[in-house]
Amino acid sequence: MATSKYTSDGSSLEVTQRYSEDLFDFLWCPVCGSREFHHIVFEGVFCEACNTQVEIKQAQDKAGTDEAVLVTFSNETTWNLHKDSRRELPEGTVSLKVIGGPGAREIDMWHPSPDDFWEPVQPGEDLTDEDSDED
Ligand SMILES: [Zn+2]
Repeated sequence: MATSKYTSDGSSLEVTQRYSEDLFDFLWCPVCGSREFHHIVFEGVFCEACNTQVEIKQAQDKAGTDEAVLVTFSNETTWNLHKDSRRELPEGTVSLKVIGGPGAREIDMWHPSPDDFWEPVQPGEDLTDEDSDED
């Protein structure tokens, strides 16, 4: 069995700090496309632009891949979610698994998977071009 470097209780802040520097260089906000995040001690990590919350957990299910992390974005704290510069997450939350070490990270999977109904906003994507006929 793979052993975790972190205990399972109360360690999310430690994990966040452990991964923050290069992981947050890699990540972007799927709600607005921003690459800027800020870390509020004891509160968590939030998108600088839209305040979407980001949670980092060490992924437990890849034996031998101790760099795998699970990143969850949540709309609960998002500001102005229904502006046209934002895209709401499916059911308000989306997770992605990031594998690989510093400088070589890649996204292993999204949950739920991007599909015809939803795709993560890409950095630099211009959402104002999009026809949004939501009611
Ligand atoms: Zn954002």
